[in-house]
Amino acid sequence: MKLMLVGILLLFFSCGKPGATPLVTYNVPTNIYNTYKKELDAVTGEIVSLTGKQLVRFVPNDQNPKYTDSLDAFNDYRSSDNAWILIKENNTQFTDISDGAAGIAYIGTNNSPTGIIVLNFSIPMTWSGHNFHQVVAHEVLHCLGYDHTFGDDYSIMNYNYVYGVSGITTIDRDRLATDFPFSLAVVTTKDLEKLAAFDEREESEKYAYHLMENFGLSESRAQIITRHLTSYKKLGGQRALNDREKDILSQEILGFGFEKGKMALEKYMQGEKESMEGLIILAANKNKTSPEHIKELFGELFLK
Ligand SMILES: [Zn+2]
Repeated sequence: MKLMLVGILLLFFSCGKPGATPLVTYNVPTNIYNTYKKELDAVTGEIVSLTGKQLVRFVPNDQNPKYTDSLDAFNDYRSSDNAWILIKENNTQFTDISDGAAGIAYIGTNNSPTGIIVLNFSIPMTWSGHNFHQVVAHEVLHCLGYDHTFGDDYSIMNYNYVYGVSGITTIDRDRLATDFPFSLAVVTTKDLEKLAAFDEREESEKYAYHLMENFGLSESRAQIITRHLTSYKKLGGQRALNDREKDILSQEILGFGFEKGKMALEKYMQGEKESMEGLIILAANKNKTSPEHIKELFGELFLK
């Protein structure tokens, strides 16, 4: 049987959704989630940053939303920020998606991924584990900003290879590592501000634990950092941190000022790695953890 093409809707938009958490959490109808749990886990495991942190995740949801047009789904997503893997089960649903497409995704960018994928279960293609895995991984990469490739480019984004490979390819992995040097599962400065607004003891403990788990910090260091963060609640209330406060925060946590860190990160992204690497060693010493962990923490503080 001829395999269906994996289709896309070319819908670009340049502005990010304000306040969106960069890690994309896709809701998946519970029955689909349970049937393809293994494949979804595989996608989560392979679509990762340079440092191996996941960029997407999937959660079961008892709802199974249907739309007559996928654009309506996308508009809902833009207002609600709830990412979905939606299922077209018959021809009255998602009528804009043709029988020639096994799946569609709204294309995002590296900096502003999108979260609407529709899988076309109404076509005469067997949704084996393999096919499901390939289509979902392909569509997720569209959401993260990747377009189709052609010729002999050995990528899951190439129609010539999408079903012929297993999961994403080494080329795809390299591209992800280049474009996502840090985890997207970051607590951005915005989140830190939100976090600083929590004064419940339980939240502080949770965050200290997160710092220990993810950044290899000692318990006492994690507690000190958490205290710095929560103290901004008293300092600034609900308002956003001003530059001076960010500076103090960065100074206390990493050992250098916020602007210095931001500039080093910008240079790093442009391929000039020296100043950032110097700062990372400084911060690793201050926090008595590895440079790899500091790179992640750096991303938490500086990437938006
Ligand atoms: Zn595609």
